Amino acid sequence: MEFDTIAAISTPMGEGAIAIVRLSGDEAISISDRLFRGVGGKKLSDMPSHTIHYGHIMDPATDQVAEEVMVSLMKGPKTFTKEDVVEINCHGGLVSVNRVLQLVLVQGARLAEPGEFTKRAFLNGRIDLSQAEAVIDLIRAKTDRAMNVALGQMEGRLSRLIRKLRQEILETLAHIEVNIDYPEYDDVEEMTHQMLLEKAGYVQKEIEKLLQTSQQGKILREGLATVIVGRPNVGKSSLLNSLVQENKAIVTDIPGTTRDVIEEYVNVRGVPLRLLDTAGIRETEDIVEKIGVERSRQVLKEADLILLVLNYSEELMEEDRNIFKAAEGMDVIVIVNKTDLPQKLDLDEVKQLIHSYKMVTTSLKEDKGVDELEEAIASLFFSGEVEAGDMTYVSNSRHIALLTQAKNSIEEAVRGVEAGTPIDIVQIDLTRSWELLGEVIGDSVNESLIDQLFSQFCLGK
Ligand code: GDP
Ligand code: ZN
Repeated sequence: MEFDTIAAISTPMGEGAIAIVRLSGDEAISISDRLFRGVGGKKLSDMPSHTIHYGHIMDPATDQVAEEVMVSLMKGPKTFTKEDVVEINCHGGLVSVNRVLQLVLVQGARLAEPGEFTKRAFLNGRIDLSQAEAVIDLIRAKTDRAMNVALGQMEGRLSRLIRKLRQEILETLAHIEVNIDYPEYDDVEEMTHQMLLEKAGYVQKEIEKLLQTSQQGKILREGLATVIVGRPNVGKSSLLNSLVQENKAIVTDIPGTTRDVIEEYVNVRGVPLRLLDTAGIRETEDIVEKIGVERSRQVLKEADLILLVLNYSEELMEEDRNIFKAAEGMDVIVIVNKTDLPQKLDLDEVKQLIHSYKMVTTSLKEDKGVDELEEAIASLFFSGEVEAGDMTYVSNSRHIALLTQAKNSIEEAVRGVEAGTPIDIVQIDLTRSWELLGEVIGDSVNESLIDQLFSQFCLGK
């Protein structure tokens, strides 16, 4: 494919950090050569690929030094985009990196759209769509676990599984085809109903397994929507503060990714808690009292997890009971706070309301019980499962929707076989699931979807 040469700043902007201007395309090297003055007048185009060169970026208009740089030269196709790539490492500072970018643009490069580098990697066949999407996830990952999931996907873990399933379906389809077209071919084994059921059943099970990870995958990706509820003065703000203080939200930097989306997440043992902003306050100060049980139930419904706080030093009140009612049927952890004070709360009475909920006792004032609470959150979420690194998760809504449809088609096929439906009808369902799986990795996706997907990226990726 033929593309023009694009350029963008591809590192976080700000003081101190090294800033990179990245170029990709046929002209990347010649444009750089017109600006770069290396030691002893060496030309980048004469240099071997994958080498780094010290020198200066000159402004051709004034012949003045614009910036002291290290330039990485990477010739296609062994690059992220499969094109020639040049990265100009500037000493940082918004002004100097912008000046270098301007010079590069004057020399004929075009400013890249958000995600355009990754889009090229996709269009040039370097990565497939699910891998490209993983780049977005990686940029936005909120915990190490979430990052591992994204990395696994970027390395093609999901793609490989999808390809394997498509291959199974394709072989089955081919086998049926041969049976239909060449019924006289005795040496091709006939595809029996039993064999068909086995093949389709296998694919169905694998898709189901993937879909089972989607709940966790989505939470890792998007965060566990969490609300702290309780009567006034039970310790909600204190709980919020102690969770935020002990768990610095965002994790390590990976080279080459821009963390431009910094939202407030709390990382509790690998589970990203997204503390819900309900009507402007993240802890729902006597929400039940204000808006009533029915409406609070609606508000709480948006949450994946409810932290329900009670006061150990006061008797259970009608308001407490109403909060339990509003939270019924949801994932709740009950926190009995202020255990440093004399007991007034009847724990047996509380236990009758708790059903299967977990209960943790804390004294936030004395910093007691927070570990147990974190343990409870983590085990509620991971429920004894293996580490994220060992699993293929689906976390992306688009993938989940496609996999669900693919599962429906394959189920349809299985039902058809069992009911003795003519084989050419079964073929249609199998083909459909093959196509749907293809869309996950970007086979047969249309232009506008591609544009939509890549527009979610930040600049310089
Ligand atoms: P909220 O109204 O539910 O947000 O409660 P706050 O977190 O604002 O706490 C209300 C008061 O209780 C504050 O004075 C806190 O310092 C105090 N408090 C919070 N947790 C504890 C605790 O475990 N023990 C004691 N003795 N006081 C606490
Ligand atoms: Zn408060």
